[in-house]
Amino acid sequence: MILTINCGSSSLKYQLYTPDLGEVAAKGIISRIGEAGTSIDHRVGGRKIRQDLPGADHAGALEAVIANLLHPEWGAIGDIAEIEAIGHRAVHGGDTFVESVLVTDEVIAQLEECTPLAPLHNPVNLVGIREARRLLPDVPHVVVFDTSFHQGMPPHAHVFALPYHYYAEHKIRRYGFHGTSCRYVSARAAEILGRPIEDLRMVICHLGNGVTIDAVSGGRSVDTSIGFGTFSGVMMGTRSGDFDPGLIFYMHKKLNMSLSDIEAICYKESGLLGVSGVSNDMREVVEQAVAGNARCALAIDMFVYMVRKFVGSYAAAMDGIDALVFTAGIGENSAYIRSRISHGLEFLGVELDDVANDQVNGAAAIISPAHARAATMVVPTDEEKMIALDTLRLSGGLIGRDPAEVYLAAAVAE
Ligand code: AMP
Repeated sequence: MILTINCGSSSLKYQLYTPDLGEVAAKGIISRIGEAGTSIDHRVGGRKIRQDLPGADHAGALEAVIANLLHPEWGAIGDIAEIEAIGHRAVHGGDTFVESVLVTDEVIAQLEECTPLAPLHNPVNLVGIREARRLLPDVPHVVVFDTSFHQGMPPHAHVFALPYHYYAEHKIRRYGFHGTSCRYVSARAAEILGRPIEDLRMVICHLGNGVTIDAVSGGRSVDTSIGFGTFSGVMMGTRSGDFDPGLIFYMHKKLNMSLSDIEAICYKESGLLGVSGVSNDMREVVEQAVAGNARCALAIDMFVYMVRKFVGSYAAAMDGIDALVFTAGIGENSAYIRSRISHGLEFLGVELDDVANDQVNGAAAIISPAHARAATMVVPTDEEKMIALDTLRLSGGLIGRDPAEVYLAAAVAE
């Protein structure tokens, strides 16, 4: 079986996949790590088990994962040796990691060097990797980076127009995020369309609490809306998205705000929450807009407008599009937002089948008429599955897996 671990600052998510990756045998989340009220929610079959883990740090959290997976009553394995390989998520691979890799001591050292680029995330990702290697030293560990899918963007898309040495010496460039999601979704979209990904120009709209719009041409990310920090691009739940950077100087110099105050505003108090004054949750913002709240309506108008601008600019970047693909919480669940974004993009060949759009029910679906020049689609994202696929692909030779099975994983992963 393949175990995936997604270690965040105060949470740890895990999924245990059956050997063919066809099913999730068990999964769960440990919440509030390092805070009061740490607990694990473990799911296996139809059962949900919740336990308190007072005082657990990340090491304790991982020990609890293994104990639950081995539990005689609600475990999913009888012996720890049944875990054949472990896949880890890491947020930032800098310009070092252009794809997922097998973990070695050297990889850990290189990942440490990327820490300044993601000071909140990479250290906890590293803790997860180290602890898992300590607990399961004999299995291959693989690390999958959120940034690596975007590493192949051409220089004209990833270099900022600042003095060049900031790029050359300080690695200041567009990195992009949500790469694991966009890679999975673009591969699935091509599969569903029954066309080789090499022939397709897609815009992936990953619309969740975080938002990425990604231009994917021939299976490669060629431009992406998030840049260096994680608040650029389209406005998000609490993040501002793009605004004139001159404002930062104005707020600092004229409004006497500290840089850390401005940073907190851009990341935590802006976006849907900041404009609506009601919530960072799109469901609530839509509900209140329908009930007549003008600021909620404005927040939605802005969100839709920003997404449409990116779709248009990426169509220009790729000389047109063959597919517009919606994913993540808002993209998968809100027919209303999909409709607001898609209508009016007919000049790009986008046409929405409103009935099909309304009938989306959690599964992947094509929501455009067959004659549309560009397919409009909903494809549920599955970052864990992508991590498991990469883990199987990279560790297959080490764990004696059938090459045909590994080949299949490679085909989906590439
Ligand atoms: P994610 O980060 O992918 O979990 O997505 C979270 C976002 O999806 C939140 O803003 C939710 O409000 C939004 N979301 C989930 N379901 C719906 C829905 N039915 N309509 C609108 N937004 C939704």
